[in-house]
Amino acid sequence: MTYFLDVILPIPLQKAFTYHITEAEAQFIKAGMRVAVPFGKSKIYTALAYNIHNNPPTAYEAKTIHQILDEQPVVTEMQLKHWEWIASYYMCSLGEVVRAAMPNAFLLESETIITKNDTIDINDSQLKDDEFLIYEALQYQSSLKIQDVVSILDKKRVLPVIKALVEKDILFLQEELYEKYQPKLVRYVKLHQHHKSEEKLQELLGLLSRAPKQRQVLLTLFTLEASANKPIKVSELVERSGTSSAIIKALIDKVILEEYHIQTDRVQFEGEGDAAAKTLNDVQQNAFIEIKEIFKSKSVALLHGVTSSGKTEIYVKLIRQQLDKGNQVLYLLPEIALTTQLVQRLQDYFGEKVAVFHSRYSGNERVEVWQNMLNKSDKAQVIVGARSSLLLPFQNLGLIIIDEEHEQSYKQFDPAPRYHARDAAIVLANFHKAKTLLGSATPSLESYFNASQGKYGLVELTTRYNNVLMPDIELVDLADKYKRKRMKGHFSDRLIAEMTVTLEQGFQIILFQNRRGFSPIVECTTCGNSPQCPNCDVSLTYHQYRDQLRCHYCGYNSQMLKSCQACGNATLDTKGFGTEQIEEEVKALFPEKKVARMDLDTTRGKYGFEKIINSFEQREVDILVGTQMLTKGLDFRYVKLVGIMNADNLLNFPDFRAHERSYQLMAQVSGRAGRTDLRGKVLIQTYNPHHNILQQVSTNSYKEMYAEQMNDRYNYKYPPIYRLIKITFKHKDYNRVNLAADWYAKSLRQVFKANVLGPEFPPISRIRNLYNKNILIKIPQKQSLVKTKEAIAKIDTSFNAVKDFRSVRVVINVDNY
Ligand code: ADP
Ligand code: ZN
Repeated sequence: MTYFLDVILPIPLQKAFTYHITEAEAQFIKAGMRVAVPFGKSKIYTALAYNIHNNPPTAYEAKTIHQILDEQPVVTEMQLKHWEWIASYYMCSLGEVVRAAMPNAFLLESETIITKNDTIDINDSQLKDDEFLIYEALQYQSSLKIQDVVSILDKKRVLPVIKALVEKDILFLQEELYEKYQPKLVRYVKLHQHHKSEEKLQELLGLLSRAPKQRQVLLTLFTLEASANKPIKVSELVERSGTSSAIIKALIDKVILEEYHIQTDRVQFEGEGDAAAKTLNDVQQNAFIEIKEIFKSKSVALLHGVTSSGKTEIYVKLIRQQLDKGNQVLYLLPEIALTTQLVQRLQDYFGEKVAVFHSRYSGNERVEVWQNMLNKSDKAQVIVGARSSLLLPFQNLGLIIIDEEHEQSYKQFDPAPRYHARDAAIVLANFHKAKTLLGSATPSLESYFNASQGKYGLVELTTRYNNVLMPDIELVDLADKYKRKRMKGHFSDRLIAEMTVTLEQGFQIILFQNRRGFSPIVECTTCGNSPQCPNCDVSLTYHQYRDQLRCHYCGYNSQMLKSCQACGNATLDTKGFGTEQIEEEVKALFPEKKVARMDLDTTRGKYGFEKIINSFEQREVDILVGTQMLTKGLDFRYVKLVGIMNADNLLNFPDFRAHERSYQLMAQVSGRAGRTDLRGKVLIQTYNPHHNILQQVSTNSYKEMYAEQMNDRYNYKYPPIYRLIKITFKHKDYNRVNLAADWYAKSLRQVFKANVLGPEFPPISRIRNLYNKNILIKIPQKQSLVKTKEAIAKIDTSFNAVKDFRSVRVVINVDNY
């Protein structure tokens, strides 16, 4: 009998690939184990064993596998089942899901890695089409593998193109073969044994009398050793002795200190884990009981509780119950909200049972969480993480909590799988026969709709914990203020007055502006020309801090211009404003106060957010200026005033959800005010104070907003009434994008008739030198989703058979909102 193994390669192949295995291997291998396999001419991949059978592949000769990498599966059956669902629902390959799910460090590989030479300037108009596509892909991926290039160019013989680029000095090649995971070693020091006796020690200190810093290190080491009977970390010694690691190295070189390493788990917990849970008040207790009641008959409950109603404490109770039953809990949060604030809160309750998983963690840290979960370790009972943590190997999942369920960042846009974590989590919970709790102060329309249809249970909390009043929200009419000259920069007299009082009382302020940078548009006052990004159809944003013009879509930047490129006059002026400008104006208005800014530019790095949040929490900062980031479930005790600098550019965003999102955003930012005792105040500056959404925000009327928006969704056939699939075409050549999109739309119309919209150029039609064009397919409730996707897949296959269209990138995005 001959045996064959289907494997999933972590690349966008539509089908599993089949290899030949021996009978012994067939008996040993289980689905979910990793195997090293040859693929293509000479590459080795780590693939996942999927299925063992006796049928040779018909289209090719099966090769043999190189080796089996695991003794036990590293991926569970349940994971595979869930990943299959994701691949089929979101129309991507299983390999792409594997790529997204598995920490890179799991994938032992021998492959050629291609990286871009960043030291030379490249004029991309000199590149041939194929060369450009590779170069272009490397603008947003730091490296590519040969196989990636094969799929980007959609042809097998890619080596000549790569070779040409290497010869032009545009690309670098690099061979890698290594197991990427390395346990973290911590450096410790102790006194070298030569000096252990009292006598030797005195001698040593005498000797070092002329090296005061080294002497200081030794004395600190003794103090530390005396105060705690535990190993002394190099980092600790450096910090406590106020010296540098260079001095410690000198002592090691002199054989006075001895260095050693201990392997530690990277993911260490900090909380004690025994904090008594807060006693729920009556309102919370009722909600808790209602949720449990709902879970008897339904698998999903929506907890709609106003900001600061104490939802988190209810989650804690529910988690505790699951842990008592021996179940795991997944606590999903938007990436940005995953701060130490919340993790600390959970660790205080659950100690080292809490494992954190998100993209700012290194590959090694992720592997540790994964392994702990596979081993059913006590350390991985409560998984707190961003969207990708739902791809982890859960063993006995009892509950998934999706906090801030309305958050847009639960949807992955690029690359595939383009999944929505909330929806994929509900499916995961069903596989595990677990329950899902969605929580939000401003639920998404689709979740509230599901609740109103009885599909989900609904629990509402309408008061804040401790009966703190909802903030008092005041709309400030900018048109009127400008007319009556009551503005200083972008601050109305009302805002300045409220800020002054708040600061005098010793409270803090949050100012929200949804654009970063100094000003989004630079314009010449003589000829009206404004500098555009050479790669994208957008104007460049001025960043004063670096005196640069930057593109927020592709990262292009240049020095600020001295004069207009079109007419040559030195009459460049800035229009519009971003967080940087607000920060500067605040500093001028309140020079004695401390101001900080929280946006993409100030929060890079693993602890970027933490630093700003901590200093605000500890009241080192009086006024925090920021973007969307400010809205994500932060709990500050001393914020009394929130200012929204300009509500209009939120409302005018060209998207069918713009109004829903504006409501959510403003209600959430407002929710940061007055969370503990005193009622908070919110000022919203706008040119449209009568806009319905602003009225609804200011009166805290979620249900009114819901009813009105749903009406529009019915009338214009948008989600949650209809479903959407968006297909985007991308190519460097304008005409080719048009031809391709037209061909595709025509084929779609034959099947879906009037439910096909477009093709249309989006508001920004060119990004990173590629023209984009979209087709939108609207799917009525009664239409089968499965059949719809089958029809699209069929059209896609015929499309790819057209030679002219091969180089056009087609991105299919299911539920693209
Ligand atoms: P939400 O998640 O609904 O915005 P939180 O759970 O963060 O609200 O609660 C708001 C504040 O009230 C927090 O500072 C929290 O510690 C406090 N709080 C909530 N419930 C209780 C309780 N039962 N006992 C004591 N403090 C509570
Ligand atoms: Zn750009």
